[in-house]
Amino acid sequence: MSDCIFCQIVEGKIPSSKLYEDDAVLSFLDINPINPGHALVIPKKHVTSIFDIDDETLQKCIVVASRVARAIKKGVKCEGMNVLQNNFRAAGQLIDHFHIHLIPRFENDGFLTSWPGKPYEPGKMEEIYNAIKQNL
Ligand code: 5GP
Ligand code: ZN
Repeated sequence: MSDCIFCQIVEGKIPSSKLYEDDAVLSFLDINPINPGHALVIPKKHVTSIFDIDDETLQKCIVVASRVARAIKKGVKCEGMNVLQNNFRAAGQLIDHFHIHLIPRFENDGFLTSWPGKPYEPGKMEEIYNAIKQNL
């Protein structure tokens, strides 16, 4: 897609710090990292989100993500890593080309230190469970 920043990175029209590349997948450093070494993994073909990516492409992406994650861990000596993937604006997706975030983490780095989970109201969990299950 000509107006997609990540497609332009794939095509070399926008420069990037490429970490890994094959015929289907590209990984490069995020230009605005949460922590140094924050990288992205993208399919070379334009797909928008988890909702439209095909299984084969997704598998290729996650295998590369695992490989790059190990390299980041060794390279920046991080103490942990978040693997995140945002879909649509409500979930924080700003670039509409599927991407996996690899975010190296350090103790007390201030990012995502808590996960504000909240319990279901009585009976709600079963209702939600059924609503999802019938679509699988
Ligand atoms: P999203 O919010 O869509 O999950 O994340 C998009 C990510 O892409 C952000 O972390 C942002 O810093 C990164 N990004 C946006 N534009 C560019 C760019 O031109 N080059 C690189 N390397 N990263 C970018
Ligand atoms: Zn694209």
